[in-house]
Amino acid sequence: MVKKKVPYCKNCGAQVSEDATYCPNCGVAIRGTSKPTLTVASWGERFVAWIIDMIILGIFLAPIKIVYALFKLPNLWLPILPFPFSWIPFVEFGFNNVIYFLYWMFMEGTYGQSIGKMVMKLKVTRLNGQPIDIGYAAIESFGKAFLLPLDCIIGWLMNTNKNQRLFNALSETVVIKQSQ
Ligand SMILES: [Zn+2]
Repeated sequence: MVKKKVPYCKNCGAQVSEDATYCPNCGVAIRGTSKPTLTVASWGERFVAWIIDMIILGIFLAPIKIVYALFKLPNLWLPILPFPFSWIPFVEFGFNNVIYFLYWMFMEGTYGQSIGKMVMKLKVTRLNGQPIDIGYAAIESFGKAFLLPLDCIIGWLMNTNKNQRLFNALSETVVIKQSQ
């Protein structure tokens, strides 16, 4: 019986999965790809992509807000979280945030990119370079939609050399520059 060989990264020696395109530890390509390494996106590029997304979401949400104001409908824009949680700094669970979450989860889970990331040529992938699905997107989008400052500050303090937000680390995802 032939024992199945476990693939290891030739660069750093980390064990990698069968389907890995890139080493999850050091980012070097495991097998034939056009790019030698995953190029991690900078916080600055991601910030610009985020601004673009927020403008698009703002435009989308504006008419809904106007209708609510005109008809004096119940205020959905207040945080919907009950008392103890609503006092945690940087944590927001309003209607806006739910829409942000659904947008990022759908776009990044389906295309690997929000519209802002398309413009900036950025992509969310797994650490091994494989595309993410809705499940990964749900986890990484959760922090971004509901507790962004905390998500970024903790990620920055963790200093993973992959510029991961806390919820990137939890979902084992990374934002890279799109190849070619
Ligand atoms: Zn490696």
